[in-house]
Amino acid sequence: MGLVPLEEAQGYVTDACSRLAPATAPLARALGQVSAERVVATEAVPPFDNSAMDGYAVRAADTAGAPVVLSVMATLAAGSPTSAPVGPGEAIRIMTGAPVPEGADAVVMVEDTSSRGEGRQVEVRAEVSPGAAIRRAGEDLAPGDVVVDPGTPLTPGHLGVLASVGVAELSVFPRARVGVLSTGDELVSGPAPLLPGQIRDSNRPTLLGMVAEAGCEAVDLGSANDDEASISEAVDVAARRCDAVVTSGGVSMGDFDLVKVVLDRLGDMRWMQVAVKPAKPLAFGIIAATPVFGLPGNPVSSMVSFELFARPALRKMMGFPPTTWRRPLLAAVAEEPLERRPDGKTHLVRVIAVLDDDGRYRVRPVRGQGSHQLAAMASANALAVLGDGDGVARGEPVRVMVLSST
Ligand code: AMP
Ligand code: MG
Repeated sequence: MGLVPLEEAQGYVTDACSRLAPATAPLARALGQVSAERVVATEAVPPFDNSAMDGYAVRAADTAGAPVVLSVMATLAAGSPTSAPVGPGEAIRIMTGAPVPEGADAVVMVEDTSSRGEGRQVEVRAEVSPGAAIRRAGEDLAPGDVVVDPGTPLTPGHLGVLASVGVAELSVFPRARVGVLSTGDELVSGPAPLLPGQIRDSNRPTLLGMVAEAGCEAVDLGSANDDEASISEAVDVAARRCDAVVTSGGVSMGDFDLVKVVLDRLGDMRWMQVAVKPAKPLAFGIIAATPVFGLPGNPVSSMVSFELFARPALRKMMGFPPTTWRRPLLAAVAEEPLERRPDGKTHLVRVIAVLDDDGRYRVRPVRGQGSHQLAAMASANALAVLGDGDGVARGEPVRVMVLSST
C-alpha cells in the first residue's frame, strides 16, 4: 500500500467533517466557543458622556487665565443620576465614570486643583479645553456597530464587550461531544497488579485530556476487547451518542487489529498509511453521520495522530476558522542535531522548545523518540517537523508545532 502524503490525509479527514449545528449559549458558558452569528450593538457604550478622571466638572471657558476659583455646587459619584446644571463660575466635584452634568463641557483632574473653604470652593490651576477628560457616549460602540462577526472564537474580552451592550446569550457552534475508546485485550485500568502480558491503559486518559484541551466535551467510553462484537457494539453506541469518536489501537497490520475491520463494516471507512512518523496508520470513517478516528495504539502515535488529524477536524466542527484548524508551524533553531534518515516520511521529533531572549524558539530533542515512549513525549512541549532527508544540523532552522506553552 502506498503512503498517503500527510497534507492529503489531513485534507481528506477535515473535508469529511462538517460544522455542528449552532445553538444558543449563555454568555457565561461561551468562552472559547465560536460565534455563529453577527451581533450588532443596539445601545451605545459608554451609554452617556462621563468623566474620565476624579476631579471637577467645569465650563472650560471659566478656566481661561487659570488659576481661577469656582464655587463647588455638588458631588457626583459613579452611578449617581446627573445633578443640577453647572452654571458660570461653578464646578461640580465628579468621580471617574459619573455622568457629566448639564452645562459642564470639561473635567479638570483633581491633581490640578486645590479645595478651598471646606470644599465649598475649588481653585483650578490648569486651563482646560472643551471635551477635556470626558468620555463620549458611543465612543467604544455606537448602536449599529458590529460587536462580533460569525466565526469569531470568543475571548474573555469578547464576553465583556457583549455584556457591555446587554447581550446575555448568543448563537455559537457547540462544543463537540467526543467519545474516547481504548481497544486491546492487554489493557488494564486502575492500580490493580498486572497479570503477565497486561499493560495499563494510558491512551484513554491522554486522549480524554487532548479532547478536553481542544475545547470539546470528553466522554469516557472505557475499553473494548480485541473482538469484532465488542468493538462493534462500543463504536456503534458511541457513534449515536457522540458528535465524534476517537479510538486507539487495532488499526495496524496485526491479526487482532480489528478496529479497521469493524469501521469498514459499520460505515464508510478509509484505512490509510500516512507518510508520517510516528502515527503512520489511520482508520478514519463516518458511522451514522459521526466521524470516527481510528488512531494507532502506540501511546506517542495516538497523541501525534490526534494532533494531526482529529484536533483540526474537531476545530472545524466547532466552527473555528480554517487558518486556525492546525497549529501554526513556527520558526525555530535546532540547538542540537535533529537526526533522521530518508524514508519518504515526514518525521515529527519530540522536542523541548524554549523562547530565547530575542523571541526565537530554540529546540532540542527529548531522549526517547520511540513511539512507545510516552514519558519522553510528555516531557516535550513541541514537535519539530522534519521533511524527508537527513535531518537538521545544530544551528539550522527548523519548523515546530508548539503543543503547550507551559
Ligand atoms: P495496536 O495498535 O493495537 O497494535 O497497539 C500498538 C501498541 O500500543 C501495543 O504495544 C499496545 O499494547 C499499545 N497500546 C494499545 N492501546 C493502548 C492503550 N490504550 N494504552 C497503552 N498502550 C496501548
Ligand atoms: Mg491492539
